[in-house]
Amino acid sequence: MNILVINCGSSSLKYQLIDMNGEVVLAKGLVERIGIEGSRIKHDTTGKERLVIEEPMNDHKKALELVLKAIVDKEHGAISSLDEIGAVGHRVVHGGEDFTDSVIIDDAVMEALEKNIELAPLHNPPNIIGITACQELMPSTPMVSVFDTAFHQTIPAENYIYAMPYEYYEKYKIRRYGFHGTSHKYVSKRAAEILGKDIKDLNIVTCHLGNGSSVTAVQGGLSVDTSMGFTPLEGLAMGTRSGDIDPAIIPFIMEKENMSFDEVNNMLNKKSGVLGISGISSDFRDLEIAEEEGNVRAKLALDVFANKVTKYIAAYAAQMCRIDVLVFTAGIGENSAEMRERICEGLECLNIRVDKELNNIRGEEAIVSKNLSATTVMVIPTNEELMIARDTLELVSNR
Ligand code: ADP
Repeated sequence: MNILVINCGSSSLKYQLIDMNGEVVLAKGLVERIGIEGSRIKHDTTGKERLVIEEPMNDHKKALELVLKAIVDKEHGAISSLDEIGAVGHRVVHGGEDFTDSVIIDDAVMEALEKNIELAPLHNPPNIIGITACQELMPSTPMVSVFDTAFHQTIPAENYIYAMPYEYYEKYKIRRYGFHGTSHKYVSKRAAEILGKDIKDLNIVTCHLGNGSSVTAVQGGLSVDTSMGFTPLEGLAMGTRSGDIDPAIIPFIMEKENMSFDEVNNMLNKKSGVLGISGISSDFRDLEIAEEEGNVRAKLALDVFANKVTKYIAAYAAQMCRIDVLVFTAGIGENSAEMRERICEGLECLNIRVDKELNNIRGEEAIVSKNLSATTVMVIPTNEELMIARDTLELVSNR
C-alpha cells in the first residue's frame, strides 16, 4: 500500500509518499510560503528530476491540490492516479490526554483535535487545516492522526505532575506532556532491532538533538520520562529556546525591561538557548567554528547545552537504575561527533564511554561506544515520516 505522510506547519507543508511494500520513498517534497507571496513547491520523485512549482497558494487546500497534481504528474509524478494512495498519515503536534496512540480520523477525533488547540495554539490549527483540506480532496481515503505527544502518555503521574496547585491540572490540564514522541519511539525501536534484543528487556535513553531538543527515558519500550513539558519550551537549552529556567525570572525581567507577556514569550522561545548565550547563531555548526576560533561565549553556549543533556541522561540513569542503550538522533545528534563526545565525557562516572574513532561518523546508523562501556551508545538517524506511515498502515489494515 502507498501511504502519503503530511506534516503541515503554519505556512509550510512537508510530504512523503511511501510504498509500504519494502518501505520505499516514491516521492517527497516541501511547500513553502503558503498564504504569503512567493509560494513554491519543491517536489522530488525518486529517480526523476526535481519539479519546482511557483504559483500563488493562498491556503493549504490550494497547496495540497498542487502537491497531489505533482504526485500524479505524467512527467514528474510517482503514481498515475490518486486511487493508488491507500491512506494518509497526518502529523499532529498535540493530542493532550485524549490520545495515547495514533488513531483513524473520524468526527469525534476532529472534535478532540479542536479541543486541544488551546494546548498548542501555534501548532494544532495548521495540522487541522491540513487534515480538512486532504479530506476535501480525497474524501474516500482513510486518514490517520499521529501525535507528537502520544508516545509519552505512558509517563507516570509523579513525572508529569507539576508541583503547583492540583486544581490547575484538573481545570486546565496543566501537566507535562512531552514532544518529539514519534522520533523517540522510532529510534528506541530501531535500537532494539539493530541490537537484536527485545525492547521489553531494555532501558534506553534517546536524545533528539535538533533545533528543538529533548531527552526521553524509554523503559521496556514505554516512555517513562521526557525533558519537554507542558510546551516544547521546557527541558534542555535549545537552538533558540531557554529550556528550564527559574520561573521567578519571568516577572523580574518583565518589570526591569518593561516587557509584555508576548515579548517575554518571544524572548524565551526565539532569542534564548545557544543563540541567546553566544549572541552568534542557533546553528551548532556556526558555534563549533566560532569556538575553534576562540570565541568564549560560543564555547560557553556549547558547554551549557552539553551539560544540560548530560544532567538529564544521568537523572534518567538514576530513575531506571541503569541505561543499556543511549541513542543520539536529529540534526545535532546525528551529525556532531564533537557534541556526542562532549555529552558523554560528563557520563564517565556512569561508565558510559564513547570510542573516538567509531564516533567519527555522521548521519548513519552506528554503535559508537567502547567495548568496555556499560552502555551501548548509538547514532540512529530519525525517520518520523516512516514511523507515521507504519502507524497509518497498521491502523488501516486492522480496520
Ligand atoms: P529540526 O528540529 O528543525 O527538525 P534538525 O533535526 O534538522 O532540526 O536539526 C537542525 C540542527 O542540526 C541545526 O540547527 C544544526 O545546529 C544542527 N546540525 C546539522 N548538521 C550539523 C553538523 N554537521 N554539526 C553540528 N550540528 C549540525
